[in-house]
Order: sequence, then C-alpha cells, then structure tokens
Amino acid sequence: MGPRAFSGIDLSEDALPVLELARQFAEERLRPTAEARDESEDVFDADIHRELGELGFLGMRVPEEHDGLGLDLLTYLYVLEELAWGDAGVAVSVSVHNSLPVSILLARGSEDQKREWLPKMARGEALAAFSLSEAGAGTDAAALRAHATRDGDDWILNGEKLWVTNGASADLVFTFVRTDTREDRKGTRGIGAFVLPKGTEGFSAGKKERKMGQRGSETVALTLDEVRLGPEHLIGEPDRGFSYALEALEGGRLGIAAQALGIASAAIDEAYEYAATREQFGRPLRTFQGMEFKLGEMLTALEAGRGLLERAAVAHMVGDPRARRLSSVAKLFASETAMEVTRQAVQVHGGYGYSREYPVERLFRDAKVTEIYEGANEIHRSLIARQLYRERGDEP
Ligand SMILES: Cc1cc2nc3c(=O)[nH]c(=O)nc-3n(C[C@H](O)[C@H](O)[C@H](O)COP(=O)(O)OP(=O)(O)OC[C@H]3O[C@@H](n4cnc5c(N)ncnc54)[C@H](O)[C@@H]3O)c2cc1C
Repeated sequence: MGPRAFSGIDLSEDALPVLELARQFAEERLRPTAEARDESEDVFDADIHRELGELGFLGMRVPEEHDGLGLDLLTYLYVLEELAWGDAGVAVSVSVHNSLPVSILLARGSEDQKREWLPKMARGEALAAFSLSEAGAGTDAAALRAHATRDGDDWILNGEKLWVTNGASADLVFTFVRTDTREDRKGTRGIGAFVLPKGTEGFSAGKKERKMGQRGSETVALTLDEVRLGPEHLIGEPDRGFSYALEALEGGRLGIAAQALGIASAAIDEAYEYAATREQFGRPLRTFQGMEFKLGEMLTALEAGRGLLERAAVAHMVGDPRARRLSSVAKLFASETAMEVTRQAVQVHGGYGYSREYPVERLFRDAKVTEIYEGANEIHRSLIARQLYRERGDEP
C-alpha cells in the first residue's frame, strides 16, 4: 500500500519518497511506541525527536538553502497525517514546530535571523515552541498580559504563559508579549514576537499539564522573570507580533486538520481489524450490514476531510482569497470527523473499546483536543460565517 492520504496530485518529484519514509517511520517507530508514551504521561521522547530531525521532518517547510526539505504545503500535510496515524502526540509537536515558528521566521524574520535559526531548526538541533496563550487569554488571545519593556536596545520580558506545546524541551520559544504601555494600551497593535532561547536567565518552564490525551506531547506553563533579550531576538515590527501569530495559525490549522485525519485513519484501521476478527452469531462482525454501514460512513467522512484539506492547501498555495476561510473549514470538519470516527471505532470494539487493551480508547482521547486548540471550533464557525458576510460586503 502507498502513502495513506496521497491522492495522486504529485506536486514535487520528491513527494513520494518522503511520504513512503513517513509511512515507514510511523509504522515502525511511532505506532509500536505510542502506548508507552501515553502511559508515561508527558515524558518527552528525545530519541524520537532526534530521529525526526535526522529524517528531515523538522525541516519540512524550510527551504533547501537553509538545510530543510523545502516541501510544498500539500506534501507536508500528507506527511503530518502519516505521523499522526502513528502517534498524534508526536505529530502535534512536529506540526507546531513546522507550521508556527518556522513559518513566522520565513515570513517575517530578517535574513540574519533566518541564517541563525532556520538551519538548526531544520536539522532538528533546535526544537521550537509557539507561546501565545495565557491564563486569561485563550480564544481572546489578544488579551495577553505578559509584557516587554525597553532598556536601551534590549527588551526585558515578564509574565506567565500557558499551554505551550514542546515548551520545556524546546530550544527556541517563539513568544508573544505586550510591547505597548499600561498607560497606552493598543490591543492587537501592541504585541511583539520574540525568539527566546532555552537557558536564557529568568526564563523557566513550570507545571506540566496532565492531559486527557496526546500525552506523548509536552504541554507546559512558562515563566518570564526579568528576561533580557537583545534586539536581534525581536521578529519584525515590535507592534505587529499578533498579526504574525494569526498569519502562522492560518497555516497551523491545516496541520491540526491533517493530524485529526491521521487519528481518524488509525481508528478506521483498528475498527476494521477488530470487525474482521471478532465473531458473534457465528460470523465476523464485519459481515453484518449494520457494521458495513458504520465502516462505510467512517471512511466517507475521512475521505471528505482529506478532500477539504487538499482544497484548503491548494488555496493557500495559489493565493486564493478563500484560503483563510478554507483553513477554518478544513480544521473544523477534520477535527469533528476525528471525534465521530473514533467514537464509532470504540463502539465497533464493544466492551474492549472501553478497555485500555486496544488503542481505540487512546485514539478517542487523542482526537478531542483537535476540536479545541489552534482555535476552538466555536470560533471557527464564527470565523467562517464572518468571511461569508465580508464576501457579501456585509461587515459585522
Ligand atoms: C494540549 C494543548 C496544547 C496547546 N498548545 C498550545 C501552544 O503550543 N501554544 C499556545 O499558544 N496555545 C496552546 N494551547 C492553547 C489553546 O490554543 C487554547 O486552549 C484555545 O485557544 C482555547 O482557549 P482556552 O482554553 O482559554 O478556552 P476559552 O477561550 O476559555 O474557551 C472556552 C470555551 O468557550 C468557547 N468560546 C470562547 N469564546 C467564544 C466566543 N466568542 N463565541 C463562542 N464560544 C466561545 C470556546 O470555543 C470554548 O468552547 C494548547 C491547548 C491545549 C489543550
């Protein structure tokens, strides 16, 4: 069997070998070890990340001139689906690194910043994190309070960040803090983007979240206590960080959609295996029409999600003005597909679906957060509708 999601649109001649490699890595390295990562709860698997770096999967979107694979968006998303089929927790770590910090540097970094950080990020020598959320700033991310004040050419950062994927293990944290003043708050136009290297004095990782699923990914709080950064750590304009974050999240959502589809695809494989071997009434479950309907609907939803994701990716690649709306549509649909498909996969397993003996209960837990992070689905519904209003010239 070839790569799972690949539809035959071959955008680069390198695509197929990379996808074959991703599939092999997911089958041989990720799937067999996913349960152990889940059980160990947030023990960062440094070996897996080192191998991901060696294979180039941490530099998928980095151009070859900076030591990356320079993959097109669609091939990158196919790879993410493969990795998520193997372990969704590992896939989200790869997605965050590639979709958010890498894309911010590519789009907004100076040539010096690109030369300094991109090759290390691409080779897996510098894992990156993206730190926007805070205790009081989730969906309303612009409500963040961590701040940076100028001291000569330097910046002094203070505050608390929350929910940082890769946060404790990352070598570089791309963090967003206020650069406006208490006396003159500027909302979304008062936030800067900074690159914070691990080991900088005053910067520490705090509590690890104990999560429902995706326990193979690390999610931590970060403290910034009088952290001094030189001007070379500021990305772009000091007051435009929020728009850089939103720009990156538009692409990041496609990574989450790919991840969700990988989870759904794994759940279908598990459901089929079980239905083909488990017998009741003297026949394998898969021979009952009720079971065929279930598996047929699960596969239809998965393929519909893949179709939407491809459409969204192509829209981004050709600069279609509907790209933003399609990112939300693909993320919304794929995450709800992952939830529904894993729910049905648990049902196919009967009592064993509820037991930890089979992977479907983990897949069910892993799926849930795809409806929450990189924009909870409620806000995507609103964003999609608001785009429609805008297209009709009806600004809310
Ligand atoms: C495992 C995990 C990893 C994460 N990784 C990162 C990361 O690496 N970097 C990072 O910056 N953040 C990260 N996050 C944070 C994530 O992006 C936020 O959890 C998400 O944006 C939702 O914010 P919140 O949790 O504060 O929920 P809230 O914003 O408090 O929302 C709670 C509920 O209210 C709904 N709601 C809120 N506003 C509206 C509205 N206007 N209309 C209708 N409904 C609304 C939401 O949809 C949700 O259902 C991560 C979160 C998790 C769980």
